[in-house]
Amino acid sequence: FHGRHINPQIYADLNGSNWRLKDYEARGGYQALRKILLGADGVEPMTQDQVIATVKESALRGRGGAGFPTGLKWSFMPRQFPGQKYLVCNSDEGEPGTCKDRDILQFNPHIVIEGMIIAAYAMGISVGYNYIHGEIFQTYDRFEAALEEARAAGLLGDNILGSAYSFQLHAAHGFGAYICGEETALLESLEGKKGQPRFKPPFPASFGLYGKPTTINNTETFAAVPWIIRNGGQAYLEIGKPNNGGTKIYSVSGDVELPGNYEIPLGTPFSKLLELAGGVRKGRTLKAVIPGGSSAPVLPASIMMECTMDYDSIAKAGSMLGSGAVIVMDDSRCMVESLKRLSYFYMHESCGQCTPCREGTGWLWRVVDRIHNGQGRPSDMDLLNSVADNIQGRTICALGDAAAMPVRAMIKHFRHEFEALIDKAPQAVAQA
Ligand code: SF4
Repeated sequence: FHGRHINPQIYADLNGSNWRLKDYEARGGYQALRKILLGADGVEPMTQDQVIATVKESALRGRGGAGFPTGLKWSFMPRQFPGQKYLVCNSDEGEPGTCKDRDILQFNPHIVIEGMIIAAYAMGISVGYNYIHGEIFQTYDRFEAALEEARAAGLLGDNILGSAYSFQLHAAHGFGAYICGEETALLESLEGKKGQPRFKPPFPASFGLYGKPTTINNTETFAAVPWIIRNGGQAYLEIGKPNNGGTKIYSVSGDVELPGNYEIPLGTPFSKLLELAGGVRKGRTLKAVIPGGSSAPVLPASIMMECTMDYDSIAKAGSMLGSGAVIVMDDSRCMVESLKRLSYFYMHESCGQCTPCREGTGWLWRVVDRIHNGQGRPSDMDLLNSVADNIQGRTICALGDAAAMPVRAMIKHFRHEFEALIDKAPQAVAQA
């Protein structure tokens, strides 16, 4: 990435050195926390119900991939539960193409801390963890430093800002496994076990970290919360479109002139985002786009150029907004080779717990690999669809689906590229 193009209005001011508490407070930081705990401008402090209602009104949806309504998720937490409850931030950003959470934590860590304190207050939670992806050591250190600043300023820890509310927040480091971004695998890892997804139900809201009620949200989701509390749910909703409130950060990569992170309102036309990213590489034309990270089905240019960048529009087009990783492919790209690389990734990252995923992901890769190497068989197209069918919906977690969906989409939209290679293969020529 050679460009960072985040609008600093809401999430981040990415000038490198102004991540500290004093800089964040100069941008209005921790005003939302003061508003809910101490009140502001003659207005009473906010109750837990008021905070949750405000987040519901904003139509904020989970920015990690699933797009689940955040306020609704918070309302699932049993607030009267007598024992320990936990809040977890999922910063295990590992989806190929996604690099937004890393930048938020690196350049604006206090916004995540403030968002987490507000969320914890709303759900009556006293302990939280931010699980940060392995391999990004500087980011982890930066977040730790921000935690220290917040504690020293009385913004975090016991009796926050002199109120009766206390919240302890800790950073935890992952080790780089993609599967630990799956929320129950993350919880297992946080408990010190092998990071493998759990069967659901029970869901984390009732049986989460150490078997206790737990709410898990993505980094970008927490980062949106302070602005919502400061400006109101309705104001956030109006930035986006109905059911898709606010802005979203898109990590635009691939065949564009200016790859980078872009924060734009939900509902912005894809063509506008492409324009911000400098357009397709010079001399090339747009061929296809993966609109929401490698797990999202690919869409051809003709469909993508008609889409707006929001959860509903992309779903209607047959894909997912996911984590907002927009992978742009121009007319020089071989779709068989692209699928081969994707399939290898899922084979490599499968945790191996369930047979359809453990065996199927490797099977998919081997078939695509032989097609790409000129050894494909005429029956391979049906075989790929059949293996994908037998993975999708038959596994413990969504990694199986994530491996199967790109295969089906590539075959649906670019079947001719696979068939052209198979037709040239020695077996096909011999059979003819
Ligand atoms: Fe593990 Fe794959 Fe099963 Fe998920 S679907 S639990 S990654 S084997």
